[in-house]
Amino acid sequence: MRFRELTADVVIVGAGIAGLRAALAASGRGASVLLVSKGAAASPAVIGFNAPVACGDSAELFFRDTCVGGGGLNDRELARLLTGQAVEVLREFEGLGFSFDREDAAYDLLQPLGCSCPRLVHQSNHTGSASMALMREELSRRQVKEYAGVTALDLLLTRQRVCGLLAAAPLQDELWVISAGAVVLANGGGSGIYADSTYPDGIVGDGYGMAYRAGASLLDMEFVQFEPCRCLWPRKLGISTTLLAKGGELRNRLDERFILKRYPGGEGTVSKDMLARLIALEIKAGNGSEHGGVYLDLRMLPEKVLKRDHSMYYERFLRAGIDLTTERIEVAPAAHTFMGGVKIDAGCACGVPGLFAAGEVTGGIHGANRLGGNAGTEIYVFGKIAGASAAEYVQRNGQASIPDQERRMIAERFGHLQDGDASAVIQNAKALIRNTMGMYAGAVRSADGLAQAGRIIQELATEFKNYQAVSVRELTQLSELQNMILTAELVVAAAERRRESRGVHYREDFPTRDDRHWCKSIIITPGAAGHEMTAVARDGENSAEGSRAATTCQRGS
Ligand SMILES: Cc1cc2nc3c(=O)[nH]c(=O)nc-3n(C[C@H](O)[C@H](O)[C@H](O)COP(=O)(O)OP(=O)(O)OC[C@H]3O[C@@H](n4cnc5c(N)ncnc54)[C@H](O)[C@@H]3O)c2cc1C
Repeated sequence: MRFRELTADVVIVGAGIAGLRAALAASGRGASVLLVSKGAAASPAVIGFNAPVACGDSAELFFRDTCVGGGGLNDRELARLLTGQAVEVLREFEGLGFSFDREDAAYDLLQPLGCSCPRLVHQSNHTGSASMALMREELSRRQVKEYAGVTALDLLLTRQRVCGLLAAAPLQDELWVISAGAVVLANGGGSGIYADSTYPDGIVGDGYGMAYRAGASLLDMEFVQFEPCRCLWPRKLGISTTLLAKGGELRNRLDERFILKRYPGGEGTVSKDMLARLIALEIKAGNGSEHGGVYLDLRMLPEKVLKRDHSMYYERFLRAGIDLTTERIEVAPAAHTFMGGVKIDAGCACGVPGLFAAGEVTGGIHGANRLGGNAGTEIYVFGKIAGASAAEYVQRNGQASIPDQERRMIAERFGHLQDGDASAVIQNAKALIRNTMGMYAGAVRSADGLAQAGRIIQELATEFKNYQAVSVRELTQLSELQNMILTAELVVAAAERRRESRGVHYREDFPTRDDRHWCKSIIITPGAAGHEMTAVARDGENSAEGSRAATTCQRGS
């Protein structure tokens, strides 16, 4: 194992859209920037983002929709920034030559669930990947280095200020000690702590762990969104719930369309959260399909709906040997976006000097649930703010150097690492967390289930507290595992504490919303005696709701 030393004004962890935007903003302010990422990001999957450009739409209406969608728990200041700066992002990208789909002169806007008018701007269905390519071109022109395959392990601190980052490059068998004036966390969310997730495997809550260990607070960790229908049999593949609106049917093992008991209008009339909940309840009641989901039957759809209008899914399944026009599949809810995360202020500062964060790793913007398309807006808007704030912080405060004592400690702690693979016990522990979270802390929760999850996670925390990694590869895996344990622990603790149902958090034992006691966000702060939880009152959505329903919008230019 070799140590490698690097220096930059601003180090950015994560090369999704939030990280790339931060890198551009920081380098645009003259900072030297270094970007590390360990692997795949969710951002290339972004179809589009919300921007209020339809006739009749406005930042105000967008703000109201966002607060209503968030069950009134949104951090209003952050939600204002999100909704107020979305159009600027659109214009900025157009200025760089990026084209959004139009029909005649007007934008071709889609209307995500929860938006009171069409609002999602997009370039076909690859806005995320195309905009990332554009940003990478610009970064490479500016000679900003992006190091892929490098996992950030922990922040380095001197006198409570961030002074750098410890990272691992397992393929090179190297440990990197990076001096930095400021660090931006853009690690994405944590849905990889669940057995079934729509996200890349490596998105497991590393940013939550890093920020929390450095002293930052996390909030709204109980709010995890679930995509209702991810195919689990015959192959694990994504499929769109919009096919239910076209007439697709969900059936249980008794061949009943169980959704009709609650929603006689059919599957297509049910919101995604409710759909995920009803499917999870049906499975829990023992009425699931052979492989633990429910059946999704699309065979009754006219062929053109699948083969022409939804050809992406039709072909994806066909490539996997499944013909959706003749076969039904088994689907179940899968973990999707984390609403909670690192607590930030309007400048993306995390309360630890020199530490900034943006994107899904942060919490508060979306409250208890996010509108479809709002994660896209978030990562473009806040990535830029975080990068700019970090660069300004370094201009004001200068570089911080890693103390010699810290360097000696790193050498002593890790100098013995040999070349080698990670032990299977770490993989087994990860699998146990994923199964536990899926079983007890998924779309349907209860006090008993959460307590059981808490016990299993505590046992794992104890087992791996003093585990000594023997190689860089194992250290990387161990770091992920410890972040998964912490993330799972905090999701479960917050879900236990919130004794009501709101947004994407559903408690079987407290099935209704309780504004009297719970119009609050749960904030978790690392304390001397463990996790300190406080609940801060939020404004609710009533004052933000206004004339939402009465407004009509049209496609706009
Ligand atoms: C299939 C799918 C479709 C979606 N569609 C939409 C949509 O149309 N509109 C919308 O608004 N939202 C959508 N979302 C949600 C959206 O994609 C995410 O919320 C958003 O992309 C998160 O961006 P990010 O930059 O914060 O993180 P990510 O894009 O997830 O990037 C995180 C980065 O951090 C890196 N990383 C993580 N930990 C470490 C570490 N320890 N060290 C180094 N690097 C690390 C990862 O490798 C990655 O590069 C979708 C999500 C999925 C999965």
